[in-house]
Amino acid sequence: MNYDDTVRDDLEAYVIGALDQPVRASFEAHLGACVACMGGVALYAGMLADLRTIETPESSPKSAVIPVRRSR
Ligand SMILES: [Zn+2]
Repeated sequence: MNYDDTVRDDLEAYVIGALDQPVRASFEAHLGACVACMGGVALYAGMLADLRTIETPESSPKSAVIPVRRSR
């Protein structure tokens, strides 16, 4: 995989949602045409998901206990 550094930075920022809107839009346009970057996004997204699972192993039980509200 050979990304140039700018694209690689954009790629990481894109995956963590840190790209500003105009940059994000142009990066998404680039993504549609660049298989290497599409693969990179998938790779980073997977790594990020793994990291979040490791860092917050107990984060989901809470949301499972949210009471169902009935307004009727
Ligand atoms: Zn690319």
